[in-house]
Amino acid sequence: MATPNDDIPLSSADKQALLPESAEQAVHDIQAVNEQLLLAGLREQTLAEQLRHQLAFTNAITNSLDEGLFTLDRTGRFIMVNPAAERILGWTEAELYSQDISAVIPVNTAYGASSAMAPALLMDVLHFGTTQRSNDALFVHRDGSMLPIAYSAAPIMMDGQIAGAVVTFRDMTEIRRLQRMRDEYLALISHDLRIPLTIILGRAQMLQRWLTMQGREHQLHSATIIVEGSFRMKQMIDDLVDRSHSDADTDALCRSTIDLVALVQRMINQTVAPEDHARITLDALPALLVLVEVSQIERVVVNLLTNAIKFSPQDHPIIVQVYRHTTNALITIADQGIGISPEDLVHLFEKYYRAHTAKHIIGSGLGLYSSKQIVEAHGGRLWAESTVGIGSTFTVALPLPV
Ligand code: ADP
Repeated sequence: MATPNDDIPLSSADKQALLPESAEQAVHDIQAVNEQLLLAGLREQTLAEQLRHQLAFTNAITNSLDEGLFTLDRTGRFIMVNPAAERILGWTEAELYSQDISAVIPVNTAYGASSAMAPALLMDVLHFGTTQRSNDALFVHRDGSMLPIAYSAAPIMMDGQIAGAVVTFRDMTEIRRLQRMRDEYLALISHDLRIPLTIILGRAQMLQRWLTMQGREHQLHSATIIVEGSFRMKQMIDDLVDRSHSDADTDALCRSTIDLVALVQRMINQTVAPEDHARITLDALPALLVLVEVSQIERVVVNLLTNAIKFSPQDHPIIVQVYRHTTNALITIADQGIGISPEDLVHLFEKYYRAHTAKHIIGSGLGLYSSKQIVEAHGGRLWAESTVGIGSTFTVALPLPV
């Protein structure tokens, strides 16, 4: 019997239909694999395209950033440096590539303890994966000069491991210059306002006492209003200066060598009301040279003097001493006033803290806080010793120039 294959020509569809099932399957599989390969190729191409786009986008961002940015590998060597960082630091990316971080961050600086020890901080980022920030770090410019810097350093994590660090930073030179200008301006204003105000206050208090003795109740009321108004104005000036100091970055000191004894004497003369002069004794060396930012140390002395006067009765003496002890210049201001309890003493230098003994006396709790910041920015110390009802002694220790 003849089969259809023998005498009837077959169309390709018919041939296809006659292929054994496994062969048909193989053709399908091959077609599917081809399709998959094609798709995979297209996908890879698209992914590569996306990746290229993403990299170009990331580069565009880092290149147009106004902030300096660099990345470090696991051992603290430079990998990438953006144009802003090149501009701020004076190095090109090629020059810094694979150099150690110590090329731009000094391990030790001669700028006092307040300067952040940046390499140590960065090592914390690289070793422990912590994020670090500092507003008063110093980086080294290529020409060797020190740049005041604010930076933030974060770990780069890959597969749960620390792969390096990314550091963004800003040059604070201009901000520091403006802060210095502001401080000088404020010091000038407060100085010029304080002198006439001290005179008004002194005279009004004299008048107040005279009117009390005379029993002139009506006029006494007016004199009291003048005294209170003058006190408030004095407090406002003090607060203005303190607020500016507590907000300022203390690293921006502009120091000069001056005689500390003359500074303390000048502050007593300029800021103490005439009727309080008699109870202040200055016991000091003939002269003692220190390297300080004058307006800031003046501020500390005025704060401590004002407190000694404010928190002690008017007929009680205040002893101010200026002397030297080992490598420090010391100022002590001792009063016989209301004193401070041990519970208050531990919080005394905190922002806005006011002791229980002083609640009835006007104040802001900013003076001691900002004074401590200023003294510590000079590498010194400020502390208080006190007994309630007996009096208080505040001591400022400033390191002597070497
Ligand atoms: P203010 O005097 O404006 O309150 P300060 O920061 O100068 O702010 O002082 C904080 C607090 O410390 C004061 O409110 C007062 O309780 C206490 N204090 C400071 N100096 C003395 C002092 N010489 N005698 C007693 N208490 C003082």
